[in-house]
Amino acid sequence: MLATLCMALCACGDSSASGYAMSTWYSLRLTGSGHQETVSKLQETIRLYDYYLNAYDSRSDVWAVNNNPTQRVQVVEEVIDVLALSLEMKEKTDGAFDPGLQPLIDAWNIGNTAEWSVPLEENVQKALAASRLDALEVDRDGKCIQLGTSGAGLDFGGIVKGVVLDAMLQILKEDGITSALLDMGGSIAAVGEKKPGEAWVIGLRHPRGGSKDMFATIKLTDCCVATSGDYERYEVVDGVRYCHILDPKTGAPARSGLISCTIVGPEGAVCDALATASFVLGQQRALELMQQRFPDYGAVLVGEDYTVYTTPGMQDGLQLLDENFHFAS
Ligand code: AMP
Ligand code: MG
Repeated sequence: MLATLCMALCACGDSSASGYAMSTWYSLRLTGSGHQETVSKLQETIRLYDYYLNAYDSRSDVWAVNNNPTQRVQVVEEVIDVLALSLEMKEKTDGAFDPGLQPLIDAWNIGNTAEWSVPLEENVQKALAASRLDALEVDRDGKCIQLGTSGAGLDFGGIVKGVVLDAMLQILKEDGITSALLDMGGSIAAVGEKKPGEAWVIGLRHPRGGSKDMFATIKLTDCCVATSGDYERYEVVDGVRYCHILDPKTGAPARSGLISCTIVGPEGAVCDALATASFVLGQQRALELMQQRFPDYGAVLVGEDYTVYTTPGMQDGLQLLDENFHFAS
């Protein structure tokens, strides 16, 4: 399900592709014809990252790390890099973004496409205790990871789409592509302008509407955007909404009062991790953290009552489309 919608319909003559990977639909559009070879390289990049980083695929490096916790497991360099960035983001978000939640994600059955279940509190607490990376050892030169504690586990679901966007941006740079829109189901990279003098326009999905309803549009040139919300994967049990983003402090689905968090900035992976972290932190802490530690990034956060909170400057280029939404005064 797409969290963010690309408003621009694919113009004839562009080089494009779409498909399903990393549990989401993606679409790639490079302005102008003749870039199909680059498009194929981008698709191969998506396939590879999905393969390396999917903790729930027994062929992946991350699966091997999680299932051999007391051994040094050889991984590709990409996994070492994503782990390093994820740990940095964990520190910079005061633990709200945490790549070590795989035991909890398992307990809530989030990584699985099968039945959603609300676990017993006792099992949540056990999983929470196991969701630690205290004994983690990373050998960057030897390209090995050892979790060190049985029961621990890595999950990169909150950053992987942004990571693959950054890898694809590198390929576009190498191939001299100056105008493109890459959409990894809610994490988007807008490269250059749509056409000279015209920015890309991205729709932000209405958090309580259908998959095609938008509450706002945002104009972007040369930057990435990521959205996290409680409508992407959730289940309502006895009137309580359980979503797929967990609060590392409680072990339960995050309930910070926010229902949609969009982050805009230069790096896709940082946007993706910050969108997930903001959802956990809530509007006040998220906005403070963004201004103090991520001055190059902007946020558009939506509360349960449809109040829209932004970092300074973010309202330029942001247009609210739905009268039920209003900027915080
Ligand atoms: P996103 O849609 O980018 O917010 O990512 C949500 C996914 O990230 C979930 O499906 C989990 O795989 C994982 N996840 C859940 N909670 C967290 C968290 N607090 N920190 C990092 N990853 C998380
Ligand atoms: Mg994320």
